[in-house]
Amino acid sequence: MTGSTLTWDVEVDVAVAGGGACGVMTALRAARDPDLVVAVFERSTREGCNGAISSGSLAAGGTRFQREAGIEDSPERHAADILAASGDHEWAPVVHALCAVAPGLVEWVADELGYPVEIGADMPRAGMSVPRLHTDVGRQGGARLMAHLGAALERLPNVALVDEAPVLDLVVEDGAVTGLVVEQNGVRQRVRARSVVLATDGFAASPELMAQHCGDLGSPFYGGVSTATGSAVPWLAGLGATFRNMGACLRSGLVVVDHGTRVSPALPFNGAVLVGTDGRRFVDEEAHGYSSMAGVLRRQPGERAAMVWDAETMAATRHSEMMRDCLAAGAVQDLPDLPALARALGTTLDAAAAALAPLPGRRPLVAPYHLAWVTHGVLATQGGVVVDTTGRVLGPDGEPVPGLYAGGGTACGLAGPSSDGYSSGNGLLSAFGFGWIIGDHLASGTRVGSQASAEREHVPPSG
Ligand SMILES: Cc1cc2nc3c(=O)[nH]c(=O)nc-3n(C[C@H](O)[C@H](O)[C@H](O)COP(=O)(O)OP(=O)(O)OC[C@H]3O[C@@H](n4cnc5c(N)ncnc54)[C@H](O)[C@@H]3O)c2cc1C
Repeated sequence: MTGSTLTWDVEVDVAVAGGGACGVMTALRAARDPDLVVAVFERSTREGCNGAISSGSLAAGGTRFQREAGIEDSPERHAADILAASGDHEWAPVVHALCAVAPGLVEWVADELGYPVEIGADMPRAGMSVPRLHTDVGRQGGARLMAHLGAALERLPNVALVDEAPVLDLVVEDGAVTGLVVEQNGVRQRVRARSVVLATDGFAASPELMAQHCGDLGSPFYGGVSTATGSAVPWLAGLGATFRNMGACLRSGLVVVDHGTRVSPALPFNGAVLVGTDGRRFVDEEAHGYSSMAGVLRRQPGERAAMVWDAETMAATRHSEMMRDCLAAGAVQDLPDLPALARALGTTLDAAAAALAPLPGRRPLVAPYHLAWVTHGVLATQGGVVVDTTGRVLGPDGEPVPGLYAGGGTACGLAGPSSDGYSSGNGLLSAFGFGWIIGDHLASGTRVGSQASAEREHVPPSG
């Protein structure tokens, strides 16, 4: 909404729309400046955020956790891996900015906020040249992480998280964003803010926007939260902001049919094979990330395949929260021998044996076997608004819109134009990374860890 005769109901320094991964990190960092009053308006913690249903795997290159495990890595190497997967070199300044803050961010969450972090040395992923996913000790996933960050936020005297308070619109005066329209208990309030941060995630829960931008993905299982409806899209479009890569998603080719749980992405790296409904193996399972594998599965007859593994694979992966969920849901079949496997695959003994034949350099699977039918799903969108390396939203003239920032799934992500370009850990890197950068930028006097915020580098918009 626009207008010069506005009356304000509330006044804060920083108003954050969305209390998920990006919003909470923004508030945590900005509130280190005791002179700032920060308000986070959250549509519904009851409905939840993708941060909380995520696996909580944090990608960072060059952390002390990696060094202690003897893993040599750096932000530059991390960025190079992301860009090799995405091919989106135009977005390189943003990728570098996020990778630059990632190690400090992960260490801060561990050392300052007391979250039990470990390096997932047993979490190999396609395109990741060294292990760089960090996770929680105990592998409980994103719910534990978001609860921990939420508790840290609650301890801060200068932050309020206002729940059940959906943001309905931006307030724009003379081309500058000066506040938000928020609904609380059915009443609309105008919140004046020096800076507004959009952290409302993407639009994967909006059938209309998905049909408009991602229609080529067919009818995938949706594995994200109901709140990712792209509410910021029309507000940003109204400002004439540019969007990029709107057809790209974080997809998963690991969704278990009829259960909606996901098997671990580490399965193929521990010997698991994919067998089609025709009883044949059709892909090198290690050659695809799980987002790219979703496209492979969509092209299979019945848009599904059987993931088959053995006890050794199971032992290496069962402690992940994904495998625990699958086992608890009864989503995994136990098959004592090859005849039982052949029956489950609906094929002959010879065909089942042929499907299990290891690719060069891989080990053979040994009975008993485990099997889950997997299909493709969408977890989150990756396209979004064009921002600079400080998270400032760029207007139609390529200059920052005064007063407006965006991060996480609201901003253009790191997958490039296609879902195949998504690298594991990109989602939370963009959410926490931009939260960190924007929060540091807003907190006066301190720029700790936010090397990127000093650069103010602009990225040209593209279609
Ligand atoms: C199943 C699953 C597993 C994943 N695993 C990983 C992983 O291990 N590692 C990784 O890097 N990424 C992972 N991701 C991706 C990652 O979770 C997201 O990229 C990330 O959470 C996006 O952060 P965000 O802050 O933009 O959005 P969210 O974390 O979804 O937070 C957005 C918040 O905004 C609120 N909101 C929405 N609209 C409004 C409105 N109008 N007003 C007020 N509030 C609003 C929502 O209620 C929500 O709380 C996973 C995603 C899914 C779905």
